[in-house]
Amino acid sequence: MEPLYAAVALDLEVKELRDRLFSYSVPPELTDEIFVGSQVLVPFGHRNLVGGYVVSIDRERPPGLKLIKPVAEVVDPDPLFDRDYVDFLRWLAESTCSHLSDVVQAALPSCVLPRLKRSVRLTNSLTERSAPEIGSDRSRAMLLDILRGAGGSSLSLQSLRRRFTSRSRQSQSEFYRLLNALKQEGLLEIATESGTRASTRYTTQVALTGRQPESKRQKEIVALLEENQGEMPLTLLLKSAGTTHQTVRRLEQSGVVRLEERELFRDPLASLSLETSSSVPPSLTPHQSACLEILERELLSPSPTPWLLHGVTGSGKTEVYLRLIRKVLDEGRTALLLVPEISLTPQLASRLKERFGELVSVWHSGISAGERYDTWKGLRTGRVRVLLGARSACLANIPNLALIILDEEHDGSYKQSNPSPRYNARTVAIERARRSGALVLLGSATPDVVTYCEARAANRILSLPERVHRQEMPRVEVVDMRQELKLGNKSIFSIALKEAIQETMARSEQAILLLNRRGYASHVFCRACGHVVSCKHCSVALVYHREYQKDNSAARGHLACHHCGATRAMTEACPECKSPFIKEFGLGTQKVEECVREQFPDARVVRLDSDVAARKGAFKEVLDCFVRGDADILIGTQMVSKGLDIPRVTLVGVLAADAALNMPDYRSSERGFQLLSQVAGRAGRGDRPGQVIMQTYNPELPLFAWASRHDFDSFLETELETRRLFAYPPYSRIIRVVVSGLHQDQVDRQCTRLKNELESLLVDSRAEVLGPAPCLIERVRGKYRHHLLVKLAKDAPCQTVIDYLKSVNPQEETRIAVDVDALDLL
Ligand code: ADP
Ligand code: ZN
Ligand code: ZN
Repeated sequence: MEPLYAAVALDLEVKELRDRLFSYSVPPELTDEIFVGSQVLVPFGHRNLVGGYVVSIDRERPPGLKLIKPVAEVVDPDPLFDRDYVDFLRWLAESTCSHLSDVVQAALPSCVLPRLKRSVRLTNSLTERSAPEIGSDRSRAMLLDILRGAGGSSLSLQSLRRRFTSRSRQSQSEFYRLLNALKQEGLLEIATESGTRASTRYTTQVALTGRQPESKRQKEIVALLEENQGEMPLTLLLKSAGTTHQTVRRLEQSGVVRLEERELFRDPLASLSLETSSSVPPSLTPHQSACLEILERELLSPSPTPWLLHGVTGSGKTEVYLRLIRKVLDEGRTALLLVPEISLTPQLASRLKERFGELVSVWHSGISAGERYDTWKGLRTGRVRVLLGARSACLANIPNLALIILDEEHDGSYKQSNPSPRYNARTVAIERARRSGALVLLGSATPDVVTYCEARAANRILSLPERVHRQEMPRVEVVDMRQELKLGNKSIFSIALKEAIQETMARSEQAILLLNRRGYASHVFCRACGHVVSCKHCSVALVYHREYQKDNSAARGHLACHHCGATRAMTEACPECKSPFIKEFGLGTQKVEECVREQFPDARVVRLDSDVAARKGAFKEVLDCFVRGDADILIGTQMVSKGLDIPRVTLVGVLAADAALNMPDYRSSERGFQLLSQVAGRAGRGDRPGQVIMQTYNPELPLFAWASRHDFDSFLETELETRRLFAYPPYSRIIRVVVSGLHQDQVDRQCTRLKNELESLLVDSRAEVLGPAPCLIERVRGKYRHHLLVKLAKDAPCQTVIDYLKSVNPQEETRIAVDVDALDLL
C-alpha cells in the first residue's frame, strides 16, 4: 500500500512555530484510524510527544523534507471536525491577522485537546525496603514519602510535583532532577498514557428481552420496566423498584433482562425549571407572520443572504426565531442561536428547552468540561440540533448548519478584542453561513449602524414596528440634574425619580435602576493636596469598594483597579501628603444600593453587577428573586439593560445617563443610544404602561431626544452624516495596531517604525495612518501601550496590510497586537 502523509497542527507555545503545520508519515498500522480531524500524538524536537490534530492527509510526500517521522499514536480516531471546518479556521486566522494555533485554541475546547498523562509509582523493589537505606537527602526522602503515601497505586506527575514543591519548597527543576535520578536508580517508574481531559461517560441501561419472569418479585420489576417502554437506567430501576444489584443480576442470568452500556449525555440545561404550559406557541401577530413567511422562503434558498430583523423591544422577535428554528428542525438540519451574554438568559434557555426539548444544548464559558465535550460530540452526531451560545459558539463545529441567528446583533460583546483571535461573531457568522449555505438572521431593536447600512443597501430589512399586544412604548422623561442642584437637591435621585419610585412601590410594581459603574465610589482623592489614589501598574484611578457584614452594615472596604484587578486596603491617610482628609467621589452601584435602602426603607432591594455575579450561581439567584417578584427594586450595571422580559417592571431609572457617552471614540453616541434604548425597553412590557426617567447633566444632547422618542431613524441619519464626514465605518475600515512593552521609549520607537513602513506600503491607496499616540489608558499591568489606527477605504488592499503586519517581528522588548475592524479604539 502507498504510504500516507499527514499535516498536523500542533499545540505549541513557541510563537514562530505556531502558525506552521508539520508533516508526519502515517504508519501502516494506523492508516485505518487516521482522518482529517483525528487527534494524534507525534514526536517533536527533543520533547517527547506533542498533541495535535490532523488537518490534511495526502498521498504525496511533502517536498523538501529529508526525514519524516511517523505519527506515534491516534488518541481518538473519531474525527473532531472535517476538511471544511479546517478551511474555515484558516480563513479566520487569515482575516483576523492571528495565528492558526490561536484560532484552533479558541475554537476547539481544551477539554477535547489530546494530552499526555504521566503517572509515577514506586517499583516493587522499593516498597519492601525500609526508609534509612534510601538515603539521607531530605528532599529525596520527602518525594519517596509522598509516593509511599499513595500505597501501591500511582500518582499523576502533576499532583506529585504540586505536593512535592509545596511541601519541600524546592523548585520545579529540582523536582525533575530528583525524579530522573530516582528513575535511573530503578526506584520508581513513569508510565505515560494518552487521552483527552474529558471523556464520554456511560450509564448502564436495563432492557427487557421478552422472556417471561419466574417469581412474583421478578414480575414486579418487569411490570415497572414495561411501564417505561421496556427499559430504564439501572440506578433509576434500583431506586424505583426498591431492589438490589443481586436481584437484577439474577434476572439477567435467567435471560429476562439485558444490561447495556449507554453513552450518557451531560446536559448543561438539566437544572432549568420548565413550564410545560408555554410549549404551545402563541399564534403570531400579522407583522410576525409576514416576517416569518419571507424568512422561511429564504431558508429554502440554496445560498440565502443575511437579513436584519429590526423590531422594537418587546415586539416578539424571539417568537420569530423560535418558529424559524422549528422549520430548520423539520428540514432535519441544525440551528445556532447566538446571544450576547448567555448567563443573562435563563429565560431564553427555558423557552428553547420547552419548545425543542432534548435537541437543545448550550455553549458558553460557564459550562463544565464534561458538558462541553458531550455537546461537541452531540453536534457531530446530530443529537444536538439547536445550539444556544455566546460569542465563541460561532466557532464551534456545527455540521448541517442551516440557520444562524444573532439576537441583539449590535451588542459589543460579539466582538472579541482580546486575546487573539480578535474576531467579530457577526462577521464570522456571515462567512460561515456563506460556506454552508445557511441563513443569517440579525435581530435588534437598535441595530448596529454598519449592519443597518449594509442591510438597507441590500434591501434586506424586516421590521416589527410595534409591541406584541400593541402596548405603548414607555414614556421617557429626561431630567436636568443641574436644575436639581440649583433647587438644592443634593440626593442622587431627582425629585421626579424619587416620586416615581414611591408611586411604583405603592402600586406594587417593580423598578430597575441603572448605573453603569460598579463599586462604591469611582475614585478617592485627598482634599488637602488633590492627589487621586491610582493603580501602581495602570494609569487609572482606583475604585472604592465597600464590604458588608451579614446585617448589611458596612465595613471599611478596599480599593480595586478595574483594569488589572489589583487591590489594596482603603487608606486612612493620603499616600502623598499623609493628610487624613481622604474623600470618595463619583457614584457606584454599591452607593446607589445604600441610598435606596435609606430613602425607601420598605422596599426590597437587590443588586446585580459583576461583583455580585462573581459568586457562582449568584447571578441566577438574584435575577430569579426579582423575576418571581420577591424584590421591588433591581439596581444594576449594563448587565440589567438587556434581554429581561419582566411584565411587572413599569419604571426604569437611568441614574447617570452621561456616563455612557463620555468615551472619546467614534462609537460613543451609538453605544449611548443603544444602551438608553435597551434599558428603556425593559419597562412596560406587561399590560401596565411603562415609564423611564433619565438623569443627565447634558439634557440638550440630541441623543436624549432620539432615545425618548424611540427614534432610530433620526439617530441613524445624524450618525451617518458624522461618520461620512470623518470617514469612519461604514465609510472605511479600521485596523488598530497596539504596541506594548515595559519601556516607553522602545514602545514609541516600534510604533513610529510601523507607521513609516505602513505609510510606504499604502502610498498608492486611499488610506490614512493615524498615530502613534498613547492609548487612552497608557499603562496597564505595568506595560506601556501606544497605538496606530489604519483607516482604509472600503476598496483598499486590506489583506496586504494584514499580511504585512503579521510578518513584522517586533523589535526590542515590545509586542504587537493587531485588531482588524476594531471596535475598541481606546
Ligand atoms: P423581543 O424579543 O422582540 O423583545 P419577545 O419575543 O421576547 O420580544 O416577546 C415579548 C413577549 O411577548 C414575550 O413574553 C412573548 O412570550 C410574548 N409574545 C411574543 N409573540 C407573541 C404572540 N404572537 N402572541 C402572544 N404573545 C407573544
Ligand atoms: Zn494629600
Ligand atoms: Zn491596575
